[in-house]
Amino acid sequence: MRVRLAPSPTGTLHIGTARTALFNWLFTRHEGGKFLIRIEDTDKERSKPEFTENILEGLNWLGLNWDESPVLQSARISEHRQAIKGLLDAGHAYRCYASEDELASMRESQKALGKSPKYDNRHRSLTPEQEEAFKAEGRTAVVRFKINPSSEIVWNDLVRGQMFWRGEDLGGDMVIARRAKAEDIGDPLYNLVVVLDDIFMGITHVIRGEDHIANTAKQILLYKALGADIPEFAHTPLILNSEGKKLSKRDGVTSINEFKKMGYTPEAMANYMTLLGWSVPEGMEERFNIKEASKVFTFNRINKAGAKFDWDKLNWLNAQVLHEWSPKKLLEELEPLWLQAGWKQHDQSWALDLVELIGPSMTLLKDGVEQARPFFEEPPLEESAITQLSIDGAKAALRELAQQLSETPWDGIETDQAQKLISSTANSSGVKKGIIMKSLRAALLGSMQGPDLLTSWSLLARVGQDCDRLSRVL
Ligand code: GLU
Repeated sequence: MRVRLAPSPTGTLHIGTARTALFNWLFTRHEGGKFLIRIEDTDKERSKPEFTENILEGLNWLGLNWDESPVLQSARISEHRQAIKGLLDAGHAYRCYASEDELASMRESQKALGKSPKYDNRHRSLTPEQEEAFKAEGRTAVVRFKINPSSEIVWNDLVRGQMFWRGEDLGGDMVIARRAKAEDIGDPLYNLVVVLDDIFMGITHVIRGEDHIANTAKQILLYKALGADIPEFAHTPLILNSEGKKLSKRDGVTSINEFKKMGYTPEAMANYMTLLGWSVPEGMEERFNIKEASKVFTFNRINKAGAKFDWDKLNWLNAQVLHEWSPKKLLEELEPLWLQAGWKQHDQSWALDLVELIGPSMTLLKDGVEQARPFFEEPPLEESAITQLSIDGAKAALRELAQQLSETPWDGIETDQAQKLISSTANSSGVKKGIIMKSLRAALLGSMQGPDLLTSWSLLARVGQDCDRLSRVL
């Protein structure tokens, strides 16, 4: 089994392409086939090497390894032209000299009659004299592939079951080469080139988005004309936005790059994208790694209906992944982000303890920056913290605590020592323990919410920050 992802390098790796890649990958890893990549770079104006790089990088990041060097479609253009010549010679294709104006007015009159516009095959059977006359006029020509209106195209789609198309619904004879001087062959076009390259690469299963269904019908006719074996097809459901429309750039984040920047992990992204259209077999948790999913991946668990993008689920999965990571791994990922924020960690064991403290409340990797901030920078006092510190007895108790702290010979506060210090302050000041603790939180962290107080205090004490923060509010 050989499958392929055929991205066009006209933009960064899109979530739809990544999900198609994932389904191809899961299928081959389940079946023991090969997952290949073909870069469809024939659109010279829009294709850019940096997009190819971004796409390959993104696939790598998601853990979708491929099995052979990527094929560049543009490297095979002379073979594509040769094949068009072959189709012309065999009478499967012909030159159409109709001008753009002529085609536009043809479509207008079809519309006026309430018909859907399609090419009316007007140049299918030109006589040699007619052709000569068009050439003499200096007309240019496209190459069209003949589509018999009465042909019936049937395939058994691995996701959607029995599929049926009529030749007459495919828009008339299909352009396979762009307009060029009548004696030349213009740039070969998508449907033909895909078929030629899939044959060349020995592709056995074409797995792609359902927006390609009509192309599949056309491509099957090309396989037949070329006398090649027809691969199996699987059309996967589209990814939809919350309104049920196809997810597009207008929905904001669609590029894998952007998800990465937002702090999503590749594990969570790959896990989530698998669930976009595929459901786990009974008894399997929704949090899995793709290796596990590949063991049970089959097309009959792919839904036919579009898959709605669900941020809550993605966030939940990302949090699960972060919570599974060891503090060491989390620290490795966070250190570069902390450096970007201008923070140098004090020492490894301190940083590991900090990561252990904040890790369980992280959803996105970047939460590990915001939550670590008060441990690197003195935080401003939030309104609620100021209110807390103005409670009767709060400051007096903190003053007493600071006094005791200055007399403590410890180098850094351990949490049980901190406990004792708070209890003894409560005893001597007569202020309730609860008030002391809340006020201490307000002073140390500037906020009434946040991680465990005693551990936070201990971390600040270890870097000599606790006394300063206490004294600034007294
Ligand atoms: N280059 C096409 C695309 O990106 C490939 C479609 C296919 O898989 O055949 O949509």
